[in-house]
Amino acid sequence: MQVSRRRSLARRAITTALTFGIAGCAFQPHVEPLQIPTVPAQAFSGTPSASEAATPPPTADVSSPAEPGFDPDDPEAWIAAIEERWPNVDVVVCDALEFAEGCVPWTAAETELLYGTLGEHILSDYLDGPIRFVRDDGEEWHGLMVPGWSDGRPSSEIRIDDSAWHTPPALGLLDTFDVLFRRSAHFQGTLAHELTHAAVWFHPDLLGRWIDAQDATGGDLEMGDWRLGFWYNWGVYEEYEDDPALYDELVEGELFAITIAAVMYDPWLNQGAD
Ligand SMILES: [Zn+2]
Repeated sequence: MQVSRRRSLARRAITTALTFGIAGCAFQPHVEPLQIPTVPAQAFSGTPSASEAATPPPTADVSSPAEPGFDPDDPEAWIAAIEERWPNVDVVVCDALEFAEGCVPWTAAETELLYGTLGEHILSDYLDGPIRFVRDDGEEWHGLMVPGWSDGRPSSEIRIDDSAWHTPPALGLLDTFDVLFRRSAHFQGTLAHELTHAAVWFHPDLLGRWIDAQDATGGDLEMGDWRLGFWYNWGVYEEYEDDPALYDELVEGELFAITIAAVMYDPWLNQGAD
């Protein structure tokens, strides 16, 4: 009883977050994103530009993993490195000085994986709004992207819980037994998934381009496809079925996030099968 009540509460929390996000898009279709691309995209780029490579980062506090003295076993060292390389990113330490509701501290391994995923994300050029990462003490959602606003710009809070370690990025039929394993690729896939939601929240036109791209290639994905999203809990969107346009947008957004995460971290897709 207690558990199911907690589940339905959490479900309401995510659907509220989603409604909030989509309402923002619906009221200002394709107006906001036109202004955002003027922000330099290099800040989030995965490959350092020539000038970045030539200029070593500031050495004030050993905040780059490439520097001697960097302690890879210290999560706060990784957090400092992340926040230095991506000034739009805030990783909540979860101590007496910096905390968020329901947070727990990150492990060094988790912050190292976060550093890696931010560096190699396919949509890194679009991750140019404020992003706050919270390591959550729950186990409900693997990952959750809560859209918001900050100084008139879309912002994003990404919450990651322990089950992220057990969630295969593609959620396909081939991944059925992968949930038994605690893997870095699962954790990074969850990060990549939620970052994709953030990219769409910052740049809603991305979703239209994804739908157009699918139409062009004839590779239209559907809910319940055995390769991607087969195990995704599509029931969370059931209550939106009365609004077909909104429902389609939610489903497409989810398929997009699952696909990007799978392209980056799924072992089956990366074997080039198909
Ligand atoms: Zn999602």
